[in-house]
Amino acid sequence: MIRRVIVVGSTIISYGYYKLFTPEAPRKYIYSNRSKHDRSATVSLIIGTGIIGLTSAYYLAKSGHKVICIEKREDVALETSYKNGSLICPSLLTPWANSNVPKKYLKSIFSFSSNTTSTKIWPSNYVSMRFYRWMYAYLKNCTTKAQAKNAKNLLALSMYSRQCLDDILNETSISFSRCSIGSLQLAEDSTILEEIIEESKFNENIQILSTSDEVIKHEPILAAVKDRLHGGVFSSSDTNGNIYEFCCELKKILIEKYGVQFLFNQEIKSFIVDSTSESIFGEQKSHIGGVTTNSNQVIHKIDNIILTNGNYIMPLMEKLKVFIPVYPVKGYVVEIVTPPNIPFPSMNLVDDGNKLYISALKPNDKQGIVRVSGLAEFAGWKDIGVLSEPDRAQYLYEQTIKWLPHLEPYEKKFHSCSRPVSADDVPLIGQYDHFDNLFVNCGHGSKGWTLAFGSAALLENIINGKPTPKVVPALDPDQYSPNRF
Ligand SMILES: Cc1cc2nc3c(=O)[nH]c(=O)nc-3n(C[C@H](O)[C@H](O)[C@H](O)COP(=O)(O)OP(=O)(O)OC[C@H]3O[C@@H](n4cnc5c(N)ncnc54)[C@H](O)[C@@H]3O)c2cc1C
Repeated sequence: MIRRVIVVGSTIISYGYYKLFTPEAPRKYIYSNRSKHDRSATVSLIIGTGIIGLTSAYYLAKSGHKVICIEKREDVALETSYKNGSLICPSLLTPWANSNVPKKYLKSIFSFSSNTTSTKIWPSNYVSMRFYRWMYAYLKNCTTKAQAKNAKNLLALSMYSRQCLDDILNETSISFSRCSIGSLQLAEDSTILEEIIEESKFNENIQILSTSDEVIKHEPILAAVKDRLHGGVFSSSDTNGNIYEFCCELKKILIEKYGVQFLFNQEIKSFIVDSTSESIFGEQKSHIGGVTTNSNQVIHKIDNIILTNGNYIMPLMEKLKVFIPVYPVKGYVVEIVTPPNIPFPSMNLVDDGNKLYISALKPNDKQGIVRVSGLAEFAGWKDIGVLSEPDRAQYLYEQTIKWLPHLEPYEKKFHSCSRPVSADDVPLIGQYDHFDNLFVNCGHGSKGWTLAFGSAALLENIINGKPTPKVVPALDPDQYSPNRF
């Protein structure tokens, strides 16, 4: 016993001496060379380099900012923007927070249903305060009124985003295996067809296909499953593409054309809040002077800090005692790898009843790729990119083969990643109240690839104090404000 006391005592004393005499790793300061009065270029620091960070960097650098991108991974787009469903689809923007949730999903959520297509909640969430806070804000948005408002805001942003993508493609020569000429939502019976038509009523670019013959005329590859088809809705505003290829090409342009600096393997851990000022209206606003990374680097003397760190925004903003209702919701992606010369669907195929989103990327000389994505799981931050339930990915695969039986002989690959879903399923874009230089562009959920370009362009407008772009449908920046919760 005495020996044990001595061992424990001496360990504590040694640790005390160690802490006293071992200096902490010295902080390394970067970007301190800019004097406070040097206004030659506004310095903007972007945290996170998925599709949202990179497109934000593009618009800000193009407008003359000196942009620094900081990323915790070894390169760009290695988290959610690595491999997704690949659909760019303004036509499919029913908010996840919708009036069907309470009656249709909530039962399955809390009954631990084994139905594969139901939203699943991992037990670890039930002890997470963050989950309850997010869920509370989410359920408040599951009303008919909130859904109509959120759907309108999503449609406006997605149509703007589609224009912005076309502009980017006119200005650059980015290629990203894009090939879909639209999206086709499939209906196996009249009830589903009516639901799809109702959901599409605000989209002007749709065509209702009320018989299986009409569907097959649009997408002949479905002739083999004609008996399953009742009708469909085609939208010409949609397209697709490989998000990872796009991100890598955009990174090259950012470096070569706009001199954007990238710092990899640097995770932002905390903020340095260095002053508080009072606005002319008497509001107290704090100023963030810099950020500290996991390797004790301090990046400071920056004008704007822009958080585009996807699923990790909620924990990071807690450092500033700000609650951002953005929660990770896991999904699955299946890739079917084929020879390049087999028939592919020419448009995205959507079977919402089975939570199935099918999209063929443009084949290259060696191979073709058909992507399939879907399903939703509240798994929290633990195992965020881990393929925890391969059976669910297998389900997506099997449903796809039912629509496209000719794909059965080919190799399949499973992947999993999480969507950063905001409590109303509308992204948070803009400046944070209480801070004079903190901006966010986050919470794009299942629609980030579709909304990225418009979100980044809108953020650039807000940061540079430009008037809101005049587009149809009209955009109201207040609807995306991070202060709305
Ligand atoms: C299964 C699935 C299918 C999908 N399919 C589609 C689709 O078909 N169409 C569509 O429009 N959308 C789709 N999405 C959604 C879309 O892919 C996402 O909304 C989008 O990729 C999110 O981009 P992001 O830049 O916000 O996040 P991410 O791509 O995750 O980027 C965030 C970056 O921030 C970095 N980071 C995090 N914390 C820190 C820190 N503290 N310091 C430094 N760096 C940090 C991360 O490493 C990461 O690189 C899908 C999503 C999923 C999960």
